[in-house]
Amino acid sequence: MPLLEVRELCSHYGDLQALFDLSLDVGEGEATALIGANGAGKSTLIRAIAGLGRRSRGAIRFDGQAIEAEPAERIAHRGIALVPEGRMLFPSLTVEENLRMGALSQRPGHWSLTTVYALFPILREFRHRPATQLSGGQQQMVSIGRALMANPRLMLCDEISLGLAPVVIEQIYRAFVDIRAQGTALLIVEQDVTRACRIAQRVYCLLKGRVTLAGRASDFSAQQIANAYFGST
Ligand code: ATP
Repeated sequence: MPLLEVRELCSHYGDLQALFDLSLDVGEGEATALIGANGAGKSTLIRAIAGLGRRSRGAIRFDGQAIEAEPAERIAHRGIALVPEGRMLFPSLTVEENLRMGALSQRPGHWSLTTVYALFPILREFRHRPATQLSGGQQQMVSIGRALMANPRLMLCDEISLGLAPVVIEQIYRAFVDIRAQGTALLIVEQDVTRACRIAQRVYCLLKGRVTLAGRASDFSAQQIANAYFGST
């Protein structure tokens, strides 16, 4: 049984339908990439899983339990953590205070201030600084660290590389390998298809709210992925 099962999910913003009968699986401890052009519906899906969006129809199961009607706090307690697009740090809090906010659900596990600082040593150095004084890449590390502090079984990462320098993106993707090694599954929204396919065991491509490609990343040619991404045949 997959850790996360999304079945025939539909989502609307008023009259606009953003997701059409969308189904997706994430396996326990697996990295899954969600790719697709702007407006494909990636953020809508991620937010719906986290309990933050509109889910007009369909099922979402986590560890076999139906979560589609649950509020975001309950879903977080179950072990789903979101690293949101734009990082959404608390601007008046220090790095360490932001990290501690992630531990509010008090799930036991590997991740703590000590292990997050070992993963991103620069955060220990800057722990007493206001989070917003850090560079974009360092802020992204705080956002990932805050999610880890909840010891999630599944971490949802929305466009974490957006606007970051390649060297920082590499550092974050290396951290993902360690995070998976500790047993956390990842659902990663990424516009860079090559990078997404390198880390992920499974890839889903969305186009205008529908899945146009799904399966093992290694099974698809670059041309097949491009066709699914742009909707060409
Ligand atoms: P991006 O990479 O630009 O974030 P995305 O794949 O994450 O794109 P979504 O942000 O999920 O796509 O958007 C899916 C569709 O829903 C788009 O047509 C978008 O214009 C629309 N949409 C998203 N958020 C809202 C909103 N708050 N109100 C109205 N329509 C919205």
